[in-house]
Amino acid sequence: MQGDPIDLVIWDCDGVLVDSEPIAARVLAAYLTTQGVPHAPADCFERYTGLSMPGVRDRVRELCGIDLPEDFEARIRDLDDAEFRRHLKPIDGVRGAIAALPVRHCVASSGSPAKIDRSLDITGLGELLEYRFSARQVARGKPAPDLFLLAAETMGTAPRHCVVIEDSLSGVRAGMAAGMRTLGFVGGGHCGPGYAAKLAETGVPRVFDRMAELPTLLGFQGLLRPRI
Ligand SMILES: [Mg+2]
Repeated sequence: MQGDPIDLVIWDCDGVLVDSEPIAARVLAAYLTTQGVPHAPADCFERYTGLSMPGVRDRVRELCGIDLPEDFEARIRDLDDAEFRRHLKPIDGVRGAIAALPVRHCVASSGSPAKIDRSLDITGLGELLEYRFSARQVARGKPAPDLFLLAAETMGTAPRHCVVIEDSLSGVRAGMAAGMRTLGFVGGGHCGPGYAAKLAETGVPRVFDRMAELPTLLGFQGLLRPRI
């Protein structure tokens, strides 16, 4: 890991590439409140960040004792779609960071393939990130390592040559469980005071909050001038 040459950067999407978590939490909180289980956006960050939609359904059942309607996923998808098209932005500096890293890149997200495509298209990052992996492709989502291992295997790279960039507790745990060098990113709009310490409690070796720092953190600064 540390010291091994980096061949592949595996990017989480929500909260790492795109600043979607504040929007998604607002949408989910309003929806859950209409279902009789009142939530504020902060509750949604705390409880559901980094989970797939089936994971959210399970967690709501566990925490609130209700089964969400069958059309839950479709409703959230439609509500998110409208809000994302109006408000979604890339994380500050992420385009420059990708361009400054002379390695291969892919996305590995708990979101559906359609959600990943939509987020990258809206923010203009799609042209930089051709290879995309969704938790729908594996039996166990994050914090299991399966998705990252699938991404590495498909890209033909050993885990020790991969770097994972993640913002959620389940995501950094998945990266570490995959035996990959894992960095916790806390620069998204949903990361309040105290979140960096919480992420660090997972044992993730590095937590950072500015994407512009990433090439230096990975030892690439000065090797290549950013193209963008
Ligand atoms: Mg995330």
